[in-house]
Amino acid sequence: MTAITESSRSRTAQRRSWWVDGLEAAMWLACACGIALMFASGGLLAQTATDWFYTLGRALGIIAAVLMMTQVLLASRAPWVERAIGHDRAIATHTRIGPVAIILLLVHLVLMTSMTGIYDGRSIVEQSLAWADYGWFMLFAQVAAAAFLVVLVTSVAAVRLRVPYERWHAVHMLVYVGVAFAVPHQFLEGSTFRSGGLAWWFWAALWTVSIGSFVVFRLVRPLVLMRRHGLTVESVDPHPDGSTTVTLAGRDLARLRARAGQFFLWRFLSPGLRTQSHPYSLSAAPGDRLRITVKDSGEGSARVRTLQPGTRVLAEGPLGVFTHGARSRRSLLLVAAGIGVTPVRSLLEEAGADDDVTVVIRARSREEAPLLDEVEALAEQRGARLEVILGARGQTWGAVDRPAAIGDLVDRPEDTDVYICGPRAWALQVEADARAAGVPRDAVHREEFGW
Ligand SMILES: Cc1cc2nc3c(=O)[nH]c(=O)nc-3n(C[C@H](O)[C@H](O)[C@H](O)COP(=O)(O)OP(=O)(O)OC[C@H]3O[C@@H](n4cnc5c(N)ncnc54)[C@H](O)[C@@H]3O)c2cc1C
Repeated sequence: MTAITESSRSRTAQRRSWWVDGLEAAMWLACACGIALMFASGGLLAQTATDWFYTLGRALGIIAAVLMMTQVLLASRAPWVERAIGHDRAIATHTRIGPVAIILLLVHLVLMTSMTGIYDGRSIVEQSLAWADYGWFMLFAQVAAAAFLVVLVTSVAAVRLRVPYERWHAVHMLVYVGVAFAVPHQFLEGSTFRSGGLAWWFWAALWTVSIGSFVVFRLVRPLVLMRRHGLTVESVDPHPDGSTTVTLAGRDLARLRARAGQFFLWRFLSPGLRTQSHPYSLSAAPGDRLRITVKDSGEGSARVRTLQPGTRVLAEGPLGVFTHGARSRRSLLLVAAGIGVTPVRSLLEEAGADDDVTVVIRARSREEAPLLDEVEALAEQRGARLEVILGARGQTWGAVDRPAAIGDLVDRPEDTDVYICGPRAWALQVEADARAAGVPRDAVHREEFGW
């Protein structure tokens, strides 16, 4: 493995934060340019209240379109987005922006319909029906609005938690139908776009980048990878704690440039599993094999145990930034609970020979701790300190009779990168403890096993 120097680590961490800031700045710049182009095409001719509301409707449509493009880009799994932000952060941002974008689109629809109705002497209902006379693209735009509304309603937490993930996700895909049906009306009806010239090219370029990234990285790339690497299940090994390790073989896997701590979205092409794709982290440092370890957490993960060697696999990835590439400090503390051990085990395996590493494994009992034997063997081999904290949950993130504190586990918290993976509430407690002990904010890395 190439040695990662301290200065190259801090450069990588700094580059990542520039990327994140840059992407956000690009989004607001695109909104500002879109509105400027709208004004340049005559959007300032507002004299009456109706004009003002009409102009507001157009501006909101423009902001919503930029947010929607950002949404498509964040969900595109384009490597430059994934490496910059990290998959979980991209999904979290996608979840946060989504409702805002859809609400703005719906307000745009209401304002445009009611104000155009006032100009043309129609009620809002008459104007809604009249849109179809403007051309097929306006009918499409109405279908898009209906699709967005369904996505908005099904994404409300109360509804989402009642529906199985796979079913919710299938409905969520309607958002792409919405985007595909909404885009033509922008170009064919929106006056900013119809005027051609700079505005037309500006919007065409933005949509090409976002939709193009989606098509290339979500649809085409997984098929290319399947063809190029021919990934198949090599072996399936159930463990006494209930988890199962699956080893995957394929051609030229080094070209994937996967790193310890990353994950893929796996689709096993076997009966009952081919319609589902699930994220699982690499539980061993990638080499000429890839390896995952899966805990039975529901219908899809329970079936992993029944996989047969030779099953073909469609994988999207590698994804995530929970890797050594995110490090900027001299020492390393890896903290895992339950199945959260998977990326931590692979990070331990990939740690440099002179890295100062401490590993903490938290579990109720030895019998329930996945991969504990392997972590013990690796820690000994690498000269890493290992703390195994067993027992029922106590006041801190440790056990009742074995409280844990980051300050007691590492000598110089301010010079330590802390990697945490485990159930959310527990992981937040570890993070708070790390921060209280003096670990800098940018040195805390948390992987969540749920979005
Ligand atoms: C980045 C990441 C890495 C992960 N690594 C591992 C690992 O190494 N080992 C392991 O055992 N588990 C891992 N998980 C968790 C694993 O993906 C879920 O337990 C699994 O998808 C559950 O699916 P299910 O059909 O068995 O359960 P379900 O009952 O269908 O779902 C249980 C919960 O799992 C989540 N989930 C289900 N399907 C998906 C999906 N396709 N995408 C995202 N979330 C989903 C949902 O929050 C759902 O509420 C990881 C999750 C993430 C996000």
